[in-house]
Amino acid sequence: MKIHEYQSRELLQSFNIPVPGGVVIDTADQAAGAFKQLADGGATLAVVKAQVHAGGRGKGGGVKLVKTAAEATEAATTILSKNLITPQTPPEGVPVKKLLIASGVDIAKEYYLGIVVDRAQGCPVLMASSEGGMDIEEVAANTPEKIIKEPIDPDKGLLGFQARKVAFAIGLQGKQVGQAVKVMMNLTKLFLDTDASLVEINPLVVTPSCDKHPQGEVLAIDAKIDFDDNAAFRHKDLRKLEDPDEVDASEAKAAEFGLSYINLDGHIGCLVNGAGLAMSTMDIIKLHGGEPANFLDVGGSATEEAVTEAFRIILADDGVKGILVNIFGGIAKCDTIANAIVGAAKNIGFTVPLVVRLEGTNVEPARKIIEAAKSEIPTMIVGSDLTDAAKKICDATAA
Ligand code: GDP
Ligand code: MG
Repeated sequence: MKIHEYQSRELLQSFNIPVPGGVVIDTADQAAGAFKQLADGGATLAVVKAQVHAGGRGKGGGVKLVKTAAEATEAATTILSKNLITPQTPPEGVPVKKLLIASGVDIAKEYYLGIVVDRAQGCPVLMASSEGGMDIEEVAANTPEKIIKEPIDPDKGLLGFQARKVAFAIGLQGKQVGQAVKVMMNLTKLFLDTDASLVEINPLVVTPSCDKHPQGEVLAIDAKIDFDDNAAFRHKDLRKLEDPDEVDASEAKAAEFGLSYINLDGHIGCLVNGAGLAMSTMDIIKLHGGEPANFLDVGGSATEEAVTEAFRIILADDGVKGILVNIFGGIAKCDTIANAIVGAAKNIGFTVPLVVRLEGTNVEPARKIIEAAKSEIPTMIVGSDLTDAAKKICDATAA
């Protein structure tokens, strides 16, 4: 699960990582008030930031520095008025519904700090670089040696000497080291405590020298956090942070019914039980010249309710020209599933071709149920095996 930058900043703050204050708004006419609120707190600079789940906002005009309330209003109007296109959004961009107006800071240097689970090392890894900022992807691609990596023991967390080593390796000096070490230790704690799969501060900045901080201050001015969905049950409070506007509506609906659904670009809807079977079904559709419109695993139980919802979700996609049902009855019996398919199909009413292939426990009575229902579901075609079913749905949907 991804959350917005403003939510990530609040989490960082709750783990004692210094972050400049900010105000979240959803209309441009709130921008001037937000700016004044920050100015009253002493800010002379603010930054207006699009709150969308895609990164690279700076490159797409989604991050603007402003010095007056009028400039804040102008920036907010511009950002909210059109889709934001960044290197990480689809080509048409994404709508912006919320803005963060944050206190701006002067920057002496930008650094990168992040933690991800490294599958190769089998543990979380702290990554840091002196080359933080908007071009970190290029740094990773062209000069990977500039990204320092330090493995984290998931039981012990990051140890003090490791954090100091990383702070020195990215070139921090004097009092900056102690501040950055605290940020790294607290960020590790946040990562482990919340079961995150990614936490990223890019940039972590050092501010220019001033009377209060002669060696500059270390601050997080951007934040990105992803949580591991497998641990969602342990973090009911964090689930509340999910923004429904950022979630694919069909995928969210599917999750509600215990279905694993991923929307794709093709024209053949797939209704399958089991993730492995769903993947091989997609493969065989492609082998015979078709394109799957989705991945859908109805799970082991495949009740009539779940199957009905699965059909509804698949058919809500305008691109779907036909559906392939591929069910293997293991613990779930084929006849139960056949009844579910027939019930759901009658309930919804099909206009597109529906090819059904069933195999496994109680397949004979299941075939009889399907045969008997043919007259009521005229677009239904029976596939004798997986290849036959795949060929039939590809033929039936060929343009
Ligand atoms: P991203 O492009 O989506 O990662 O958005 P960021 O929040 O990282 O902002 C992009 C860039 O804008 C940063 O790398 C900074 O160079 C700049 N920026 C963001 N906030 C401030 C700020 O408070 N002061 C200054 N001077 N620059 C900022
Ligand atoms: Mg950033």
